[in-house]
Amino acid sequence: MSAWPTDPAEFRSAVREWCRTHVPRDWRRAQTGVPEKEYVAFQHDWFQELRRADLAVPHWPAEWGGGMSAAAQTVLYQELAAADAPRLVLAFVAIHHAASTLMVAGTDEQRARHLPAILDGEIWVQGFSEPGAGSDLASLRTTARRHGDRYVVNGHKIWASGAVHADWCLLLARTDPQAPKRRGISYLLLDMRSPGVDVRPIRQATGDSHFAEIFLDDVTVPAANLVGNENEGWRVAQATLGAERGVTMLELAERLGNAGFRWLVEACGARRSDGTRPLDDPRVQERLGAFETEIAALRALCRAHVERAAAGTTGPADASVVKLCYSELLQRVTDFGVEISGPAAHTVLRKPLSSGWESGAWMLDFVSSWEWTIPGGSSEIQRTIIGERGLGLPREPGAA
Ligand SMILES: Cc1cc2nc3c(=O)[nH]c(=O)nc-3n(C[C@H](O)[C@H](O)[C@H](O)COP(=O)(O)OP(=O)(O)OC[C@H]3O[C@@H](n4cnc5c(N)ncnc54)[C@H](O)[C@@H]3O)c2cc1C
Repeated sequence: MSAWPTDPAEFRSAVREWCRTHVPRDWRRAQTGVPEKEYVAFQHDWFQELRRADLAVPHWPAEWGGGMSAAAQTVLYQELAAADAPRLVLAFVAIHHAASTLMVAGTDEQRARHLPAILDGEIWVQGFSEPGAGSDLASLRTTARRHGDRYVVNGHKIWASGAVHADWCLLLARTDPQAPKRRGISYLLLDMRSPGVDVRPIRQATGDSHFAEIFLDDVTVPAANLVGNENEGWRVAQATLGAERGVTMLELAERLGNAGFRWLVEACGARRSDGTRPLDDPRVQERLGAFETEIAALRALCRAHVERAAAGTTGPADASVVKLCYSELLQRVTDFGVEISGPAAHTVLRKPLSSGWESGAWMLDFVSSWEWTIPGGSSEIQRTIIGERGLGLPREPGAA
């Protein structure tokens, strides 16, 4: 049972005080240029700090250490963003995608095995995409063949965020090659230390290797690790994707409204070599004002989504609307940051780890912003979902 005050105003001031005393000081400087090992240790320590305070998984049910109301979650993420706390980058898939999937479709044994381990720091990766199966995910070709009480898995996954550090993988594999493509897929929990798993990092445009390829060569997965029914993994995967697209955006929107917008205002107010400031230009003032309004609208949208998710009243395309609005606004904000900062945007190329996109290095942040319009379904795919499931428009021709 959490010891946090239930009164909203008291809760806000208690969290603010907690942030003042617990957010690691000067972490941006300390996390710039550190070796991967130090970044992983830092992420682990910060997660455990939040956990000790019952703040790591506020969106989980109370019996598993969460149970915070939607309103309280909003306050928490507003305060963490205002305090410029590090992001939980490594635990992201574990506490959102994996946990939400297990809550919805896992067995009691699977929940009892994995949820406490996630709280202890178990890292997860999502093994959905393959070369040739990204937007058209149902075309995936990785196979899982049942032999008694185990599956033998063969295939190739790609763009798997955090795979290098992952302990477990949310894996989609084809268990019935004869069935229509969405019906022959199963959802498995794969121990990344199993023999036959080979992880190869992919270097990105930012210089990071945030994601990797996963090669699976005769990998054994116990049948007890099947989530939901065999051949019905497509439905389970929707729970994972819904978690990826919706509630996670609350924190990100709050961060965009804090550090993101603050840096934009600072960049606009900085004097150029000729003594002028971009902010003196009425067109810049106008664009800043428009961004402020859009960010305020995004924050309101995310809050409403969290409230609907907590009440179980989300519509079939709501998460897609939230993801689309966040990712495309983020792209335009960072684009404007590059434009306003001029050459300086291209010369500051050192990024603090643990910051996600919001590193303050505009060019890197702009490049990173594209990460959000692609994973979990690209913007084009979100628009199709909004059209078909949200607005009831006719289905895309040729879609199975
Ligand atoms: C930063 C990042 C992290 C990622 N993390 C993970 C991860 O952890 N796990 C994982 O499994 N995957 C991950 N992915 C993969 C991501 O989910 C896929 O890249 C994404 O689904 C797009 O698939 P694709 O790359 O195959 O592009 P394609 O499907 O080839 O699409 C290329 C372009 O065509 C458009 N397009 C395709 N089909 C249609 C259509 N029917 N209608 C309209 N437009 C269409 C797409 O929107 C896109 O713009 C990640 C990707 C990125 C960039």
